[in-house]
Amino acid sequence: MKKPCHQNLKKFNTFGIDIYTKNFFRVSNYSDLEYLIDISKNYSKIFVIGGGSNVILSSNIIDALVVKIDILGINIISNDSNHILIDVGAGESWHDIVVFCLSRGWYGLENLALIPGTVGGAPVQNIGAYGLEFSEYCHSVFAWSFKNNCFIEIKAQDCLFSYRESIFKKNNNDYLILSVRLLLDKIWTPRIGYHDIKKQITNCVAKLTPTHVFDVVCSARRSKLPDVKALGNVGSFFKNPILEIPELEYLKLLFPNIVFWNHIPGVSFKISAGWLINICGWKGRIIGPVAVYKKQSLILVNINNANASDVLVLAHAIQEDVCCKTGISLEIEPVIF
Ligand SMILES: Cc1cc2nc3c(=O)[nH]c(=O)nc-3n(C[C@H](O)[C@H](O)[C@H](O)COP(=O)(O)OP(=O)(O)OC[C@H]3O[C@@H](n4cnc5c(N)ncnc54)[C@H](O)[C@@H]3O)c2cc1C
Repeated sequence: MKKPCHQNLKKFNTFGIDIYTKNFFRVSNYSDLEYLIDISKNYSKIFVIGGGSNVILSSNIIDALVVKIDILGINIISNDSNHILIDVGAGESWHDIVVFCLSRGWYGLENLALIPGTVGGAPVQNIGAYGLEFSEYCHSVFAWSFKNNCFIEIKAQDCLFSYRESIFKKNNNDYLILSVRLLLDKIWTPRIGYHDIKKQITNCVAKLTPTHVFDVVCSARRSKLPDVKALGNVGSFFKNPILEIPELEYLKLLFPNIVFWNHIPGVSFKISAGWLINICGWKGRIIGPVAVYKKQSLILVNINNANASDVLVLAHAIQEDVCCKTGISLEIEPVIF
């Protein structure tokens, strides 16, 4: 029988924080799960880790029970001429699933290509990119509830999905996501309204294919985002703030060039957090072993073996300065544990 063991977590988090846990346990099948459920009662802190691409690990992790979900597999639940419903193990790589579905003619996920992490991590912050959110293709999530000691199937409409939020993020580590059901399209509807995609495809809209959109998304991401193998990071470090019309109008008087998009049409707007950080002069700045990425101010990068406190020193300095200069509070996106 496997037991929780000592494990260095540097290769299990994309920021590359060099820290360990005394209690690392991999769940690869339902017999590991049974054992985990049994031993989890002995731990006051439990942390579920997927691909580690949206976490900043602090010394809290040392005594926690760290559960790595390795459950794999794709099963077809139902299939008709318009849709297919698949159940995917939480340990599958998100990007590999996007590629697999595209190759089978199961459409919808193309805009979410190349987002690092696992399928089980995707519902937690309702991943989103290029004008699409995970919630739009989620049917339900199957999980173990540590709090209520039972298995639970949560329908998408009950997952409280919103921008980079869900019931799973709000109640961090109450749930162990085991599999995710995705309801995909057999007939493709392109989602090309987002400006970066629109720019790339204006010449070929007539013969546009899902693979073309996938390729455009992948090449845009490769050109903008640092490779986590070369430069530790967790993608966007701050959420784009959401403002209502009167607040935006006031800000436009102070900053006529402010960058924003529609959030809820006619009600609210998303302000570019990267733009705010830029105009406050933070692009490329370094504090200790952490820097604001030169090509994209929304990303903080690990330049010299940073720990969680080092990351938060820079993050808090940015938050304070942006708030002081613009009146806007930036919210941290990754989970700090
Ligand atoms: C270069 C880069 C680009 C990125 N781009 C985007 C982007 O475009 N859009 C976007 O939304 N995000 C983006 N991210 C963030 C990240 O990839 C996603 O949030 C991803 O879904 C996290 O999945 P993960 O498996 O790595 O989760 P982890 O980082 O391991 O965990 C994140 C949170 O989810 C919880 N969790 C993970 N798995 C489970 C599970 N099975 N059960 C219960 N809880 C679980 C963890 O406890 C933690 O609270 C990016 C990150 C990087 C490094």
